Amino acid sequence: MSFELPQLPYSYSSLEPHIDAQTMEIHHSKHHAGYTTKLNAAIAGSPLEGQSIEHILESLDMSNAAVRNNGGGFFNHSLFWSVMSPEPNALSGELANQIDTAFGSFDEFKDVFSKAAATQFGSGWAWLCVHKGGRLEVCSTANQDNPLMPGVACEGTPILGLDVWEHAYYLNYQNRRPDYIEAFFNVIDWSVIAKNYEAAK
Ligand code: MN
Repeated sequence: MSFELPQLPYSYSSLEPHIDAQTMEIHHSKHHAGYTTKLNAAIAGSPLEGQSIEHILESLDMSNAAVRNNGGGFFNHSLFWSVMSPEPNALSGELANQIDTAFGSFDEFKDVFSKAAATQFGSGWAWLCVHKGGRLEVCSTANQDNPLMPGVACEGTPILGLDVWEHAYYLNYQNRRPDYIEAFFNVIDWSVIAKNYEAAK
């Protein structure tokens, strides 16, 4: 059993104008495909082969750079595609209440998350994570690390992730990472995040 590049549930152009089609196509068919191929090569014939990606990352030997970088890249992008939609559902219900509890309001959550994404130096990710019991936390990570990995950032279960590598926005936004972060909020499908929250809390 090897990992497969997930199909997108929408077309490359369908997130425009927020995320452009050329960026989506290269990001999915080149970058994510590359992480997937290299992850499979890194685990082939090892005890990791056949395990879930979550288990591989949670029990990761952080000195194993090939699995750390490519396993992270495989998981992170799979989550990233899934939390976006051309017809996104609004935030409601228990997760909305939990965001208010943790951050004060949705707007304050948006500020905290956007700041984490904007200030991550170099390549990396911003995350909304849930801890056991339901507590929410925002953090960021470098490169393809994520909070499932031992000792990384807030060590919760990531339920929303934003890719802030330049390959995620440079064609359309050049150096304007904050504009890309603002645009991302127009395509977040909160019904997916709510399901992730229920599953992980
Ligand atoms: Mn990426």
